[in-house]
Amino acid sequence: MAILIDGKALAAKIRGQIAETAAAMETPPCLAVVLVGDDPASKIYVRNKKRACEDCGFRSVSREMPASSTTEEVVSEIRALNGDPAVDAILVQLPLPEGIDRRAVIEAIDPEKDADMLHPVNLGRLASGVKGPAPCTPAGILRMLEEYGIDPAGKNCVVVGRSELVGRPAALLLTGKNGTVTLCHSRTRDLAAETRRADILVAAVGVPRLIRGDMVKPGAAVIDVGINRTEDGKLCGDVDFESVEPVAGHLTPVPGGCGPMTIAMLMANTLELARRRR
Ligand code: NDP
Repeated sequence: MAILIDGKALAAKIRGQIAETAAAMETPPCLAVVLVGDDPASKIYVRNKKRACEDCGFRSVSREMPASSTTEEVVSEIRALNGDPAVDAILVQLPLPEGIDRRAVIEAIDPEKDADMLHPVNLGRLASGVKGPAPCTPAGILRMLEEYGIDPAGKNCVVVGRSELVGRPAALLLTGKNGTVTLCHSRTRDLAAETRRADILVAAVGVPRLIRGDMVKPGAAVIDVGINRTEDGKLCGDVDFESVEPVAGHLTPVPGGCGPMTIAMLMANTLELARRRR
C-alpha cells in the first residue's frame, strides 16, 4: 500500500510561509494573470490562482481577452504589463485558443517577470543548471519528493511526457538532483519496459489511467501529473490509482497532489520575482 503524498497539505504549509514573508514586505508582490478565451477549465484555474494570491496577501490583476483576440493583441497586452512597474510577475493561462501563436506570446513576457518560467531564457537557465525559480508543476514535483525524503540522486527516474510545460523541465530538474533520467513520449517503443525500471516515475501525459500497476516497480514513488475528465465527469489522473496504489511506495492522488502544489509554486515564483525587483 503506497504512502499517499499529500500535495494539498504541503501546498497549504508553503502558502502560509509565503504569506508570512509577503506580510513583511513594504509592498506586496503583484501577479498579473492573462486569460484569453472562455475555456471553462482555464477559468477555474485562473480563479484558483487569484484566490491563492489573496490567501498569500499578494495583489493580483487580471486581463481577460476574447477568444477572437489576435496574437498581436495578446502580445501588446503583455508588453503593457512588462512596462507596468506595479506588476512583478505575469502568467498567461495555457492553453491559448487556436490561432494564437503560443510561442510568440510566451516570448513576449519579460523573462524577469515570467511567473511560469516558460520563457526560452528561463528554460535555458534551467537547462544550464542555474539555480532559481523553475516551471511550477515540475518545481512542485521536486518539492513533494523532498518533503517525503525521496532523493533522486542515483535513482532511475522515468518521466512520461516531454512537454515544455511539464515533462522536459521535470527531467531537467531530476537530472539536476543527480537522478538517472529517461524521458518517454508517444514514440517510446516499449513504455512498460521503461516505467518498470523507475524508482521515481512521473506521468505527465494527458491519457487517463495510462500507467497501470503492472507497469510500476514495487516500492516506486509515482507522481501523477495528469488531470483528465472521465465520461461521467469525474477527475482522474494518468495513473490507474486502483492498480498502482498496492504496488507503489509513494503515490500522489488526483486531485490533491500536483494541482495544489503547482499553485503553491506559482506563488513562490511570484514572491521570488518580486524580491528580485525590489
Ligand atoms: P501535452 O499534451 O503537452 O504533452 C503530453 C506528452 O505526453 C507528450 O510529450 C506526448 O508525446 C506524450 N504522450 C502522449 N500519449 C502518450 C502515450 N500513449 N505514451 C507515452 N507518451 C505519450 O501535455 P502536458 O504536459 O501539458 O500535460 C500532461 C497532463 O498533465 C495533462 O493531463 C494536463 O492536464 C496535466 N497537467 C496538470 C497540471 C497540474 O497542475 N497538475 C499542470 C499541467 C498539466 P509526444 O511529445 O510524442 O506527442
